[in-house]
Amino acid sequence: MSAAVFFLAVNFLIAICFSAVFAVVSVYSRSRLAAQFFSAGFAVASLTAICELGVAYSTIPVPWAIGVYGTVLAGLVFLQMGIAALYGRPVPIPVAVITFLAGMTAYLVIIDVPPGSLLHRLAYQGPYALVMLAASASVFMSNRRLAIDRALAFLLLFTGLHFFVKAWLAVTIGAGNTARDYVSTNYAVISQSLTAVAIVAVGLMLLAVLALEIMAEERDHAERDSLSGLSNRRGFEKGVRLAMLGNGNRRHALILCDLDHFKSINDTHGHHGGDMVIRSFGGMLRSHAGAGAIVGRIGGEEFAVFLPNTPPTVAVVVAETLRTGVKTMVIAGMPADFIVTASFGVAGISLQESLEEAMRKADAALYDAKRSGRDCVRQAAEAPAEPFDGRNGLHVVK
Ligand code: GH3
Ligand code: MG
Ligand code: MG
Repeated sequence: MSAAVFFLAVNFLIAICFSAVFAVVSVYSRSRLAAQFFSAGFAVASLTAICELGVAYSTIPVPWAIGVYGTVLAGLVFLQMGIAALYGRPVPIPVAVITFLAGMTAYLVIIDVPPGSLLHRLAYQGPYALVMLAASASVFMSNRRLAIDRALAFLLLFTGLHFFVKAWLAVTIGAGNTARDYVSTNYAVISQSLTAVAIVAVGLMLLAVLALEIMAEERDHAERDSLSGLSNRRGFEKGVRLAMLGNGNRRHALILCDLDHFKSINDTHGHHGGDMVIRSFGGMLRSHAGAGAIVGRIGGEEFAVFLPNTPPTVAVVVAETLRTGVKTMVIAGMPADFIVTASFGVAGISLQESLEEAMRKADAALYDAKRSGRDCVRQAAEAPAEPFDGRNGLHVVK
């Protein structure tokens, strides 16, 4: 077995493996279409090796040579379509078909031209290069800017440019006078190994992009409450810690709120009715709490709002807005006269305080709001700043 045939066999197996892996990944990935394009691209590209053998050993090599060119080009166009879909710039199918046909036309025009000239090699490798450069451009131009995205964009750029290097190499060291001679040349070995490296690098990088996307999605699921769409307790605490780190020497505020007599809402309107109330309450908190606020559902019918760079006095005003907002909520499936209320506890988070301490203070204030008859806001005692009524360490707001 010649070295070039060995590399053809290796490339075939690599392409088949990637195709299978992307088919599996497409089941789990949010970017299902992109993964399916990658799978199709590698499946088509694996046929190249078979066509190469046809060129070397068949009595009618020309159709096989067209097959070689076509399978590589189709594989690359599929990859480009997948990458463009992944990065939010999908290629319309007619554009992809025209790209493929234009590349094939360029190849068929030069098929009888002796392959020694640089012009011939450029016409051969050019369509491959342009398809990969277009894929690279769609990554560079997207607004996904993680390190892995940058790395992929550069890898695709180098892969595109490497086709031009191959054109130069073919002319410099010779790629055989006919498609059949090609398999026994040194150029074929170098070309096949360069392609193998490019296939593996691009395939692994695309897998890494999809795997990171799946992991980010799983993390998001673990930190999100599916009923309200808000962060759950874990997501809320993580978001608040990050916000506190990013605003090191500022004072923040925390609001805890709890729906009033929620058990009787469940008893009267059923669990589904209660769920609708929770969903509406979450939506109302999100829309009324302000742009920088972090909102979470931290228990059954208990919610928390973190207000960065906000003094507690302002947080009390926000809590009052929320308290009014609850009563004006329109809840699907509930009678027109249905009104729900909630109680609120507000605490400032001073420079030395942790989120846990603020939670404890806000919880005590919320408890006081419940004891005071519900549907009201209570503020926890803040060191010297505001007037203080002396009862329970709590300020009376309403
Ligand atoms: P309070 O005014 O003192 O807060 O009284 P409450 O009835 O709201 O509070 P309690 O803690 O007695 O009951 C809370 C109820 O919330 C009990 C639980 O079944 C219900 N609950 C918790 N999670 C969910 C949920 O996801 N959906 C629904 N429908 N009900 C829930
Ligand atoms: Mg309650
Ligand atoms: Mg409760």
